[in-house]
Amino acid sequence: MHLLTFLRHEKAEPGVLVDASQIVSLSSIAADMIALIDDWEAHSDKVMALMQQGERIALDRVRLLAPVPRPGKIFAIGLNYADHVEESGMDMPPHQIWFTKAATAVNGPFDPIEIPRSSFTTDYEVEMVAVIGKGGRHISTEDAPSHIFGYCVGNDVSERMWQMRTPQYSLGKSFDTHAPFGPWITTSAAAGDVHALDIRCSVNGEVRQSSNTRHLIFNVWQQVAELSQAMTLEPGDVIFTGTPGGVGGAMKPPQFLKPGDVVRCEVEGLGSIEATCRPE
Ligand code: ZN
Repeated sequence: MHLLTFLRHEKAEPGVLVDASQIVSLSSIAADMIALIDDWEAHSDKVMALMQQGERIALDRVRLLAPVPRPGKIFAIGLNYADHVEESGMDMPPHQIWFTKAATAVNGPFDPIEIPRSSFTTDYEVEMVAVIGKGGRHISTEDAPSHIFGYCVGNDVSERMWQMRTPQYSLGKSFDTHAPFGPWITTSAAAGDVHALDIRCSVNGEVRQSSNTRHLIFNVWQQVAELSQAMTLEPGDVIFTGTPGGVGGAMKPPQFLKPGDVVRCEVEGLGSIEATCRPE
């Protein structure tokens, strides 16, 4: 199942994909995606019924927002593919390196990415994104799969100068529009083996990153276990699971994003997101 959030008459509504070109609103079931996820066991049968009987809306007539437009938390892991560790000139991390992205950085899957006024080192990072379903604390790696509601494609857009000039990444990772993800949440059951998916990013049609999620250093279950030792994970929390090699900042010479550039990110089976860059 593929769950999404769309804008109709200026109002965000949760919805579900019924085929490649049509959706059905789920606003009669839940006010928003977090409410839908929070009580999924009670809602899933109703969603299934609406997929059969609900009024269909053409996908190309609506604007998709990020499937969770305002997550409670967004965490992202650094240096989690070996080739990205190498191109960054870093050592293999003994521990998971976590930073946050601000909730205000969330952006729709096809909305423009802003090149900020205060910087010129905007970079892309395609990532598989996990969305928490059942919350909890001290979740084991064995239990982690049952706590993940589903998966999306994300772009952990990064302002490299702001990211690198202090020991803390979060500011450089939190500019407005710099956390696009979507186009929908593919539920865990429909996503298959999430540690065997091709992952790719292209800029203006040129492939820059191409890998497979089997190359994650810390897999998704280990990530959920680690985060939940520190904090309570809640429905709708979002985890960016790491980017493979090929980021623009590591190219020689570096190739940062410019206004007009088109960045496309895709993960096998989860869909694709695409943004045109524009000046703030
Ligand atoms: Zn990243």
